[in-house]
Amino acid sequence: MSTDRTAAEELDRTDELAYLRDRFALPDDVIYLDGNSLGPLPKTTPGRLAEVIEREWGENLIRSWNDAGWWTASNRAAARLAPLLGARAEEIMVADSTSVNLFKLLMIAARLRPGRPVIVVERHAFPTDVYIARSVAELCGGELRLIDGPAGLESALDECVAVVCLSQVDFRTGAMWPAEETTARVHATGALMLWDLCHSAGALDVRLDAWEADLAVGCGYKYLNGGPGAPAFCYVAEKLHKNVRTPLPGWHGHANPFAMSPDYEPAEGIGQLANGTPPMLSLLAFEDALGAITDVPADALRRKGIALTSLFIDLIDERCPSLAVASPREAAQRGSQVSLRSDYAYGLVAALIERGVIGDFRAPDIARFGFPPAYLRFVDVWDAVQVIVDTLTSGDHRAERFAVRPTVT
Ligand SMILES: *Cc1c(COP(=O)(O)O)cnc(C)c1O
Repeated sequence: MSTDRTAAEELDRTDELAYLRDRFALPDDVIYLDGNSLGPLPKTTPGRLAEVIEREWGENLIRSWNDAGWWTASNRAAARLAPLLGARAEEIMVADSTSVNLFKLLMIAARLRPGRPVIVVERHAFPTDVYIARSVAELCGGELRLIDGPAGLESALDECVAVVCLSQVDFRTGAMWPAEETTARVHATGALMLWDLCHSAGALDVRLDAWEADLAVGCGYKYLNGGPGAPAFCYVAEKLHKNVRTPLPGWHGHANPFAMSPDYEPAEGIGQLANGTPPMLSLLAFEDALGAITDVPADALRRKGIALTSLFIDLIDERCPSLAVASPREAAQRGSQVSLRSDYAYGLVAALIERGVIGDFRAPDIARFGFPPAYLRFVDVWDAVQVIVDTLTSGDHRAERFAVRPTVT
């Protein structure tokens, strides 16, 4: 690998996805390596939201539930999401947050496997996953089994396990589980497999149907660019539909909501996962945002993500030997992020943000950089590494002013 910037320019010239960047409103003075935490604004979304607020809400008022298609917005969002998840729209519900969807699906899983009291989750999973799994285990009179990595999974699997919940990509290190193989291993013991796709959807070649996954959840505001607090999604494989019983039977999931019956009768298929009235502004923004990538083959996104992270790792190895790469070096085992380990990780991230390179910090010692394939250029990777080199040379990452951390890192 050459340190020459022209090599990165050449990669951009031959990038099959280069045309996508123009669909996003990215500030000129920023290199955005945090789209894995909050995706940027798609250019069409402000206009769409203005239309929703001024015309659909402001003028048309409650008539918009029918006339503007508010009632079916979740289904349309699911249809746009389906190709990116390797699933069918009828298996996807766009609703609630990831945390709430985890609750719904873990309860569903526990009820589908009576007599199996154990939920398996990773000890160092994103905290909400652990908290929700523990609560579900308590509510069901079961127990949580916390594991560390593939060896931990192997020893945790027995006939007591109802469901295994894993994040396909580790949010700290970017390490990836082999999804198809792991799903098959979990199925061999009779347990259900729930994938958390928060750091997968919109960046990786997700193939829920082909993996024969049972359940999945994921975020709308990371690689899917739905905006802060965008609705999340959940997936229930069709093979399970007839036996599913949601623990949150809100009226939107009723077979006939406007019958206003005191008795709950679940909607068919994925419909009962709808819960209550969605946050319409956020849902319509999410539907719009999905338009920016729904026509892009997931395998093309994955290919470019690998090329971006590989270039970053090569340049860091070559130019910043004091930083340790904490993500897997084998591209197939790595999501679309690269984490660097340093005693000065927080100071480094803060000093980079001052210089317009936005990544984030994850305790205790990780500087994390996301490489969303839809809008990041290879020259952005090259320029970001140049700024890292300059920052390390200046010593700013050790500055006194970064000793105190703000609430959100
Ligand atoms: C981002 C993320 C979440 C976020 O859940 P919310 O309910 O949206 O706050 C959950 N799990 C994982 C693995 C995440 O990366």
